[in-house]
Amino acid sequence: MKYFYSLMVLVVFSNLSIAQNSAVTNQNLKSNNVNERPKLVVGIVVDQMRYDYLTRFYNKYGEGGFKRMMNEGFNCKNNHYNYVPTYTGPGHASIYTGTTPKYHGIVGNDWFDRNLGYNVNCVNDDSVQPIGTDSKDGQMSPHRLLTTTFADENRLFTQMRGKTIGISIKHRSAILPAGHNANAAYWFDYEDNRTGNFITSSYYMKELPKWVQDFNTSNAAEKYFKVWNTLYDINNYTESGSDLNTFERIFKGKETATFPYDLEALKSKNGNYKIIADSPYGNSLITDFTLKAIDAESLGKDDITDVLTVSYSSTDKVGHDFGVNSKEIEDTYLRLDLELERLLNALDDKVGKGEYTLFLTADHGAPNVPNYLKSERIPAGLFDESKMFDDLNEFLYKKVNVENLVLSRANNQIYLDHKKIEENHLELKDIKKMTALKLLKYDLIGKVYITSDINQFEGSEGFLENLLRNGHNQKRSGDILFVYTPGVFKDTSSNRTGTVHHSGFNYDTHIPLLFLGKGIKKGQTFQRTEITDIAPTISAFLGISFPNGSNGDPLEFVFD
Ligand code: ZN
Ligand code: ZN
Ligand code: ZN
Repeated sequence: MKYFYSLMVLVVFSNLSIAQNSAVTNQNLKSNNVNERPKLVVGIVVDQMRYDYLTRFYNKYGEGGFKRMMNEGFNCKNNHYNYVPTYTGPGHASIYTGTTPKYHGIVGNDWFDRNLGYNVNCVNDDSVQPIGTDSKDGQMSPHRLLTTTFADENRLFTQMRGKTIGISIKHRSAILPAGHNANAAYWFDYEDNRTGNFITSSYYMKELPKWVQDFNTSNAAEKYFKVWNTLYDINNYTESGSDLNTFERIFKGKETATFPYDLEALKSKNGNYKIIADSPYGNSLITDFTLKAIDAESLGKDDITDVLTVSYSSTDKVGHDFGVNSKEIEDTYLRLDLELERLLNALDDKVGKGEYTLFLTADHGAPNVPNYLKSERIPAGLFDESKMFDDLNEFLYKKVNVENLVLSRANNQIYLDHKKIEENHLELKDIKKMTALKLLKYDLIGKVYITSDINQFEGSEGFLENLLRNGHNQKRSGDILFVYTPGVFKDTSSNRTGTVHHSGFNYDTHIPLLFLGKGIKKGQTFQRTEITDIAPTISAFLGISFPNGSNGDPLEFVFD
């Protein structure tokens, strides 16, 4: 009897809801849906930001930047990269496509192209023309990115009515997030003695819009040729090492790597506009440009969701120069905090508080400077790769009597000459094994993998083998992967001071993930989340198709 009644109730109830549903007009459905979607999604990537920069400098941050995101939004405290190598190009591609180099194909900033026989850059494209400069740095497009970004899917979903704009100092960090069908990607023409303009390529447009031309002629960059001193009294920077030490790059024209840095006086010896990119003012310039873009491109002005991707690159450059424990990096983050506050305030003002949804993450972390770690008795070191290439070729010649079987050693991978191996009737797997065993003999190389093994490897996520597999693209990656022991990176003249990222260890993989704004709950978690979860989370929230290669999971717990 009881069962019968509940069945009755159920029937009545479902009939009622059908009746109600049919009473809802299409128009209502549409506006309900639209009201749930933010007017603007803002993706912020901070280049080379370690997770602990949130906690180490917390007490010195203001209320309106990082702290606002941490305290009003959702903080994923155990967020990691789930592949190797942790470089800028792959990082930006993975955040926005929700997958790893194995599928999106951006296996490094540069890699060896087997068909072409030389190294290619992840966004270089000789088939397009530079716009706003005559530099090769304008010949860029997303043509090597194999899968879609969530911005691409938002464009398809909105019948191209939702806009996508990508902005960064670095070309790859502007282009890869914005995806294939972006309205525009803009980056800074800063390499040695270039224009100091924000530029783009003919992939996006025939000429720069007037607002970008106006920005370029407005003294916008030049005003940052000024003295970089610490924001607050340097004696209060107790969260970093001493300013004067042997672990930092010294700008040409300076005696020591110490404050203050007079950029006007130093610019001619340090690549002119390049020194702005190499200082925290590169980040200020990005905020300036972004605020102009929000107005000029009418981002977040109507109910059709737009996507704005902003990448702050100067943090990476300061890290590479001075290392993660420097006064320079602390000051750069305290200044970035103010830039974020300026951006959030502008979004509140221009788009409306509660009308936009934002996330902040990083494209990789970074280790401490090896010589600093060694001085504190932590295992670390620099690996001299310069002789490895010739060593391996000599070794293989002695073994099988064929010269130059190794073609390249890009990104801690060895590329073998498959054609030569076949012509000489050698077995590829034998050559791989021989080379792997030889590599394992090197000091500071901790692990070596043959890629055929990597692709068969199945195990719980987080293991180094899984990270290597996720980073390995069968057509673009090498045949053998080698991994340094923790705290070690490649020794080059520029790597002897400052830091370098690339590995699958926590210092490179553990990075912030903060969500804030419309539809986002206040909260935090220590549950492991991965970089590939961001794009499916945003897609689920927008109700759009997931990026076509995405294999992460929506983080339901961040939704209100
Ligand atoms: Zn980077
Ligand atoms: Zn210093
Ligand atoms: Zn970097």
